[in-house]
Amino acid sequence: MSKKKFLRQKEQREKRRIARERVEILFTLAERVFPYDPELANRYVEIALAVQQKARIKLPRKWKRRYCRRCHSFLVPGRNARVRLRDKPYPHVVIKCLSCGHIMRYPYLKEQKERRRKPSEERASREAQSS
Ligand SMILES: [Zn+2]
Repeated sequence: MSKKKFLRQKEQREKRRIARERVEILFTLAERVFPYDPELANRYVEIALAVQQKARIKLPRKWKRRYCRRCHSFLVPGRNARVRLRDKPYPHVVIKCLSCGHIMRYPYLKEQKERRRKPSEERASREAQSS
């Protein structure tokens, strides 16, 4: 590999790393502002998706299901998203965006593992913040 090519690859990796950080920050902000400014939360989602597409990175699984694929609204279950579990024809989660009515389906088994892990993590981060 030539030195120039090597440097270029390094640069690409760095760009993707920064893009991933930005996406994380933007979705975190979206979650934080949603309760009092859902429109702003949606703008953060739009920016995060633009960053993600430009850098051609994958969205972390954590955030993948937190926005509507059709209207790009930030989704909060119980507020602007309805979440249901279905067993047929295979175990899956049905997420309905209440802003535009779009329905998304995701296989369930991975979701279950994630959910088992999540509450303790959230508690830990809350405790860390309040202390
Ligand atoms: Zn929608």
